Amino acid sequence: MAKPIVLTGDRTTGPLHLGHYAGSLQTRLKLQKDHDQFVLLADSQALTDNAHRPEKVRENILEVALDYLAVGIDPDLSTICLQSHLPALAELSMLYLNFVTVARLERNPTIKDEVRARGFGRNIPAGFLCYPAAQAADITAFKAALVPVGEDQAPIIEQTNEIVRRINAQAGSEILLEAMALIPKAGRLPNPDGKGKMSKSSGSAILLSASPDEIYAAVRGMFTDPNHLHVQDPGHVDGNVVFAFLDAFCDDLGEVESLKNHYQQGGLGDQAIKKRLDQVLQALIAPIRTRRAELAREKAFVIDVIRRGTERAKQVTEATKQEVAEGLGLFSLSRA
Ligand code: ATP
Ligand code: MG
Repeated sequence: MAKPIVLTGDRTTGPLHLGHYAGSLQTRLKLQKDHDQFVLLADSQALTDNAHRPEKVRENILEVALDYLAVGIDPDLSTICLQSHLPALAELSMLYLNFVTVARLERNPTIKDEVRARGFGRNIPAGFLCYPAAQAADITAFKAALVPVGEDQAPIIEQTNEIVRRINAQAGSEILLEAMALIPKAGRLPNPDGKGKMSKSSGSAILLSASPDEIYAAVRGMFTDPNHLHVQDPGHVDGNVVFAFLDAFCDDLGEVESLKNHYQQGGLGDQAIKKRLDQVLQALIAPIRTRRAELAREKAFVIDVIRRGTERAKQVTEATKQEVAEGLGLFSLSRA
């Protein structure tokens, strides 16, 4: 029996960070063993808010690919492919845009948040406003049943499924599959300062390639409970970034529970919890950093992984585009 299909991806706007690891990479590592997983280097989507910085999008393709391989995305189990080199995705996007209204795109909560965060005001690039339709094209072109994403992406998957239902209704058959978002319980990982979700654009993300000193400095400066002034004071765990990180990255759930209890009762200082978090993050990142540095010296291998993956992805996405074009009753010169 064919394995269930998984699609995920990342904008090539910078090296990946711990938010990606908590939000999606961990799930991908588990899924790749018994699923047919496609991992998309989303350079076209990255251009929707970086059209004037193409070098940033271009240069980060390799950076993101290095991160994938360094955390353990295995090119023999997962297909790593490049969005801009899959023309069927752009063609499907164009078709899907006819099944979406501008009002619906403007109402999408993720788009609203991101437009605000980027300070676009009324000058939203049309490509950016429309990226949910493009993402619907990505997901459906691979016939993905599962999409491991961070919590911030849930409204995009919801809108994808609306588009799927409309296309299927127009075609009169179930050409496209509705997809399910796989969102980790921990929610979105915050920035060290506690303001907003960790993101590449925030400038304070802890990278998967961070040095020991960078990790230490980020943890030391983390937002905790501003009213927890003395070690013996009871402290708050909610909104405390150190505990958000321990929840996401400390495998020993019992230990995190007892640290939380101790902190809430009083008697556990910020320094102690930060020291523990530093150990956890150093142990997590060290092997990733080493592997990444090795791979960075094998650029030809990494490029070849992307090339082979993109070839395979091309076949899958072209087939879906044909089906959709036929289903929507479009003219075909080759069949005329
Ligand atoms: P950018 O700032 O360019 O948008 P980003 O850091 O938000 O970059 P994306 O490429 O947009 O990263 O996101 C890729 C995937 O990682 C998505 O599934 C997203 O939900 C997930 N993700 C990103 N940041 C976080 C976070 N802080 N917590 C949990 N998941 C995250
Ligand atoms: Mg993002």
